[in-house]
Amino acid sequence: MVDTIFSKILRGDIPCHKVYEDDHVLAFLDIGPLAFGHTLIIPKEEAATLDQLSDDASAAIGRVLPRLCRAIKAVTGAEQFNVLQNNGPMAHQAVLHVHFHIIPKPSVDQGLGMEWPAGKIDPEEAGKLAAALSKEIGG
Ligand code: AMP
Repeated sequence: MVDTIFSKILRGDIPCHKVYEDDHVLAFLDIGPLAFGHTLIIPKEEAATLDQLSDDASAAIGRVLPRLCRAIKAVTGAEQFNVLQNNGPMAHQAVLHVHFHIIPKPSVDQGLGMEWPAGKIDPEEAGKLAAALSKEIGG
């Protein structure tokens, strides 16, 4: 795994605007906010993408994520927000250390904008796909 800017933040080699820290995660303000209050939460475990993260590190993020969202709502006054998690450069991941963005959406023009080119699901193909995924995950 490459040494990323987030590893340097975790080691204290470069500063951040820390919002929250426990044994497993660190949350800090995004240096290029899409909206006031844009915050990142990262695991201390070194993993480039979410599929490489351990269950324990994932659970640690999940435990604090809603609390962080509530704090951001309370402090920014933004009632709505997006949680974004990119995996891989083509999927807009610039820093190859797992991170979740919490991005307040105070107005239509501020925060995360996105296109959502929805397709149509084919029932037969969907049945096969769901079964294959279910088999793969052991569910
Ligand atoms: P992503 O495109 O999902 O990889 O997002 C990476 C995010 O990290 C961007 O929103 C950057 O603004 C943010 N970022 C990069 N360097 C820093 C830094 N030193 N401190 C805080 N946020 C950073």
